[in-house]
Amino acid sequence: MLSNITLAIKCLVLTIILFCNLQTLLGNGQKTWHERHEMCAGEYQSPIKIIGHHAVPLSLRAVEMVGYHDPLPGPLLLINNGHSVKLRPADLDQVVSPPAVYGALLTDHYILDSFHFHWGLRNYRGSEHRVNGIRYPMEMHVIHRKQSYGSINEALEYNDGLAVLAFFFQLREKDNQKLNPLVKQLRDVTEEGQSVQLDTTFTMSSLLPRDLDIYYTYKGSLTTPPCNEAVTWIVFPEPNYISIRQLKRFRRLSAGESKMADNYRILQELGNRLVFVRRMYSEKTANRTVAENHQFWYSDVA
Ligand SMILES: [Zn+2]
Repeated sequence: MLSNITLAIKCLVLTIILFCNLQTLLGNGQKTWHERHEMCAGEYQSPIKIIGHHAVPLSLRAVEMVGYHDPLPGPLLLINNGHSVKLRPADLDQVVSPPAVYGALLTDHYILDSFHFHWGLRNYRGSEHRVNGIRYPMEMHVIHRKQSYGSINEALEYNDGLAVLAFFFQLREKDNQKLNPLVKQLRDVTEEGQSVQLDTTFTMSSLLPRDLDIYYTYKGSLTTPPCNEAVTWIVFPEPNYISIRQLKRFRRLSAGESKMADNYRILQELGNRLVFVRRMYSEKTANRTVAENHQFWYSDVA
């Protein structure tokens, strides 16, 4: 009798484990996003798998970052929106010269809007993009909108509306002190819908890796519904660092009834898109005039 009960318990545990893994495999309902958000089934979705030696090497301009070395204009809002934890300067609209980026293959200045994170419940997963086979435990997205568009909503209507900078975080033993102002207030936004004003500010550049010379760039989409194909992605392969202790603070956040971890989208097909990689000394060059021609970003061969 006792062995039957033990067997039943074992089966139950096994079923739960299998079910949980299946949930992960199916990407927590991502497969049905397109039923309510048609664009999620689009041809040019993100994230993608980036393979260095398949990327087109070009002598591109660096990504120029304006105001990234100045303290972010306060107050900074930390928000748990159920998909991620997001930071946003609350009064950005009133800032005369907000942080911005230009350069790369961007055709204009792009103004900072906000930034957020994707991370995993386990150390071997969490990042959205995969570069040369590596999945990092965390990825940060810094969202900018083209300055000629009045708002994020307007920018989402255009294929050059947003520029998103993606940065990876690798684990190391020691805390990354520069993340602490943010990490220590994560406990105030544990539940979905909570937000808090940070009691400090920091520079955007303090969250970035040291080497920003090399990057990949391609045309893609938002990685959450409604999945608008409005993003020029700029992905930096050099990772920044985070400790396991700090990452665990992210993993404690909740999204409604479940944990927020594993808030990454599964990889999407590249299709006929080209991924460009900046090579400092490549013979081939490209500039913004070329990039204005949308076809430049796609190969003729599907
Ligand atoms: Zn994101």
